[in-house]
Amino acid sequence: MLKTAQELIQRVGKRLGLAQSEIEYLLKTDAEHEFEIELSTGTHHKAYRVQHNNTLGPYKGGIRFHPEVNLEEVRALATLMSLKTAAVGLPLGGGKGGISVDARSLSERELEEIARKYARHLTPHIKNDKDVPGPDVGVSPQIIDWMVDEFQSQTGEANRASFTGKSVGKGGSLGRDAATGRGGVIVMREVLKQLGKQDELITIGIQGFGNVGSFFGEIAEIEQPNWRLTAATDSSGGLASNKGLSAKELDNFKKSKGRLIDYAMPEARQITNETLLTEDVDVLIMAALGDVITEQNMTEVRAKYILELANGPVNDVAHDYLSEKGVVIIPDILANAGGVIVSYLEWQQNKTGEHWPLETVNKQLESYLINAADEVWAYADRQKLSLKEAAISLAVKRILGAKRSQNGANETTNKS
Ligand code: NAD
Repeated sequence: MLKTAQELIQRVGKRLGLAQSEIEYLLKTDAEHEFEIELSTGTHHKAYRVQHNNTLGPYKGGIRFHPEVNLEEVRALATLMSLKTAAVGLPLGGGKGGISVDARSLSERELEEIARKYARHLTPHIKNDKDVPGPDVGVSPQIIDWMVDEFQSQTGEANRASFTGKSVGKGGSLGRDAATGRGGVIVMREVLKQLGKQDELITIGIQGFGNVGSFFGEIAEIEQPNWRLTAATDSSGGLASNKGLSAKELDNFKKSKGRLIDYAMPEARQITNETLLTEDVDVLIMAALGDVITEQNMTEVRAKYILELANGPVNDVAHDYLSEKGVVIIPDILANAGGVIVSYLEWQQNKTGEHWPLETVNKQLESYLINAADEVWAYADRQKLSLKEAAISLAVKRILGAKRSQNGANETTNKS
């Protein structure tokens, strides 16, 4: 994922005629915190916070609890965050954190211990105008609440704007839980509009029917009557049916019984995560992991559109191959930006002591994403670029534009 992100930055940088020093400025990270957490049970866990770039505002990005978290992955995700916040026009930079741990294997007490130790170690490096962490895979509002509590007891800080993704009773924003899936629906709808396909039947396959994938499916089911979910998987595999699946029913089943593969439906076929990619659907919604569509399987993809709800699910080789074939890839930094947009809205509410109704939050989310999708589409069209190249180009231009203005302001101050 890091290689893909860096390749794209370099390619876009050369295309924009950037100096090598500017490309290097975008590739480097500002700070990397790597440490180990020991739990009272005696287990040790590697922990990270990478602060990539804060030219546009405080570092912003989630914390991931997953056994495979490593420094390179966190670096890649932090880089993507800087591009994402810039691509959708937020006054924020990019960062990311993580702990190498399987959250499901910990008791509640151990989860609280690991969350508090992580926050305590990073307390000197986070603050609401410096670095604002939030949740990512494996991190619940409760885990963030423990981190906020630890941070507040270390610093005496009363304001809760130093973290986002809190539970609603503790300063979280309404709409944050559904924001990434909702954002995906908005961006997909806007792209289909641009292509003149808004009134056609669109079949959909979702890989990764978790938090983001299921919200995407359920919101689409309510708001987009022309879209039909015909395949869905989670890590166990899943099912496909040309007649259509109900995202709401799949979600209810998963919440009560656990695995999608166990869902029984007479007219449905069982499929695996690999065969999902070869299903005859119009859109593949990639909502599980990074690096899923690669040179190993790209020739088997049959979809016309790919929505990247996970970060980096299509690698750079597959991106070029599929784009060449006419597949429209809606890039992660646009498609999954709904989460960070509502995190930004949560941060704003905390800073001003306000609590906005859900309609206000969703209206602002919609407005940010419609603007961003329109800008990316128009730039791609003008410059004859893929949507990914266009989104990265716009992000890079914004970060470097701000950097040049800051340098100019510093020079003026130094002279006077
Ligand atoms: P989640 O853990 O709730 O869901 C992930 C889903 O993917 C689960 O259903 C899991 O069973 C499935 N999965 C795991 N391994 C798989 C595999 N090998 N093949 C197929 N499915 C597999 O996580 P989430 O919060 O829904 O996040 C999903 C993706 O979206 C992640 O890559 C995350 O970084 C990205 N993302 C999330 C947010 C957010 O707000 N939650 C924001 C931006 C990006």
